[in-house]
Amino acid sequence: MPSTVTAAEIAAAIRNVPDFPKPGIQFKDITPVLADARLFAGAIELLTANFKPGSIDAVVGIDARGFIFAAAAATKLKAGFVPVRKKGKLPFTTIEQDYALEYGHATVALHTDAIKPGARVLLVDDLLATGGTSGAAASLVKQLGGNILEVVFLIELKFLDGRKHLNDFPVRSLVTY
Ligand code: AMP
Repeated sequence: MPSTVTAAEIAAAIRNVPDFPKPGIQFKDITPVLADARLFAGAIELLTANFKPGSIDAVVGIDARGFIFAAAAATKLKAGFVPVRKKGKLPFTTIEQDYALEYGHATVALHTDAIKPGARVLLVDDLLATGGTSGAAASLVKQLGGNILEVVFLIELKFLDGRKHLNDFPVRSLVTY
C-alpha cells in the first residue's frame, strides 16, 4: 500500500528549537512527528520505500533518536535491529570508531557479532548534519563485512555537506534544510 503521508507533511511537523542545546544551534525536534500516529507510520513507510520485507537482514540504528526509526523500520522490513551506540554502552565485545566533532572527537561502537559478513544492511538515523556520526557507523558495519544498501535520514542539513562521509553508499533523506 503506497504511503499517504508526504515528506512535506513531515516537514511541517518538525519543530525548530533555536539555541538548543547551545547558542547558535537550530535543533530539529522530531517528537511531534513521533507523537502523530499517521505521520510516524508514514515516516517509516517513506524511509523503507526502496525495500520489500525480507530484502534487508539488519536495520542499523544510530544512538539515540536513530533507534526509534530503525526499530520500527526493522519490524516493517522483517529484519533484525542492530544498535550503534556511543562508546561504553554496549555490554559485549565491540569494535569502535572515532570521529571528529566541531570541538574534539567522539566514539561509536558496535557488537562484534552484530552483523554477519555479507548481511544486507539499511543504516538509519534521524538527522544528517556533518556526517561524522553516520560515517563512523557505516565504517563499523563495513568492518564486520556488512553490505550497506542505503543510508536514510528523516532530516538532512544540506549546507553541512554530511554526504561527503557517505560517498560509498546511496543516501536518501526525507526533509532537507
Ligand atoms: P553529525 O555527526 O554532525 O552528522 O550529527 C548527527 C547527529 O547529531 C544525529 O544523530 C542527530 O541526532 C544529531 N544532530 C546534529 N545536529 C542536530 C540538529 N540541528 N538538530 C537535531 N539533532 C542534531
